Amino acid sequence: MATKNLQLNQLTGEKTYTEIVFQKVWGRVEAYRKTHPQQKIFMMAFGDTTQPLTPTVVQALVDATNRLGDPKTYTGYEDITGNPTLRKAICANYYQQNLGIKLDPSGIFISDGAQSASVNIQELFAPDNKVAVQNPAYPSFVEGTLLAGRTLVNLICDEQNNFVPKLPEEKVDLIYLCFPNNPTGAVATKECLKAFVDYAKSCQAVIIFDAVYSPFITTPNIPRSIYEIAGAQECAIEIGSFSKMANFTGLRVGWCVIPEALTIQNTVPGELNHLWRIRHAVKFWGTANISQYGAIAALSSAGQKECQEVVNYYLQNARLLREGLAEYGLKCFGGVDSPFVWVKAPQGLSSWQFFEKMLQSRGIVGIPGCIFGSSGEGYLRLSTLGQREEIVAALENN
Ligand code: PLP
Repeated sequence: MATKNLQLNQLTGEKTYTEIVFQKVWGRVEAYRKTHPQQKIFMMAFGDTTQPLTPTVVQALVDATNRLGDPKTYTGYEDITGNPTLRKAICANYYQQNLGIKLDPSGIFISDGAQSASVNIQELFAPDNKVAVQNPAYPSFVEGTLLAGRTLVNLICDEQNNFVPKLPEEKVDLIYLCFPNNPTGAVATKECLKAFVDYAKSCQAVIIFDAVYSPFITTPNIPRSIYEIAGAQECAIEIGSFSKMANFTGLRVGWCVIPEALTIQNTVPGELNHLWRIRHAVKFWGTANISQYGAIAALSSAGQKECQEVVNYYLQNARLLREGLAEYGLKCFGGVDSPFVWVKAPQGLSSWQFFEKMLQSRGIVGIPGCIFGSSGEGYLRLSTLGQREEIVAALENN
């Protein structure tokens, strides 16, 4: 007799981000639409991209498809850790050329986006490891931790600390850090990241650094990778993605870096990298080959130039929204090095009251900050990964 996995019950009954967003946020918007058919609705809730793939990427996808349709050039399974050319391009073009960081392609694992890697990576660690997570946070860090049955420690991010947490007060084993942050849009300085690296090295903890939004950083001297901090290769795993920097949310390509130098209490150098390789072989046989050819093209010099234009487009959206809302007297955070604007609810309104007010007064739909954690109460997250015309029209809709 088969019985269900009871751990999965933690993810039902409006306990998770996805359920709350689709049932409560989306449900409320649909109900409002029915009673206010004339009101224009501006969707700034979802962190999904809206701009098309760039020409260099499209051409690479067409070429790859044609090769697969020809018996002379057809290829089947990829290397399970990812196309070697892509892994080399991530090291040479993304890390070395753009950031001056030297990594070996053997440390790069290609995944179907950052989502699966950022949660699955916990399988490398013992079940009793304690996990520190920013609060508010990208929800899957919390949900993945609960699903694994691990203890969660909150790292509070609020206006007082510029949404950048202090070091954990108690001893933790894994630390999720996400900068530029989703949902707050905050970035961390070198000094702040160095303090976390020093902490991790001092107690053999591992930092899982989500750098999905790092191509959005425009402020000088803000690190785009945890590996800009000396010693980080000994204590940090980094997760990246083509989703937001190249509009790959549908194509699904991300990566995870597990440097050879990374060690914890009961491992030798290279062992965690080797274990993740084995885990890939057992549970994941690689990302679609066509998508990986698209990612290689996105990292070519023409591809990078085009992708930067897309990122600039979203950043310009963010600037317009931030400045427009500020003109209406709203206090906004983020939106400078990130496509998320974190808006403070006025007059002490709760997240949900502010959500309702923005919907009714302007037709703007965001995500109530409290869904990202208790410290997100009193805020609304707006995504600027939408169309420029929508942002402009929303600001003109009084
Ligand atoms: N990490 C963060 C912080 C995100 O905001 C997202 C998506 O919104 C992801 C990971 C997942 O990205 P991907 O599409 O690469 O799976």
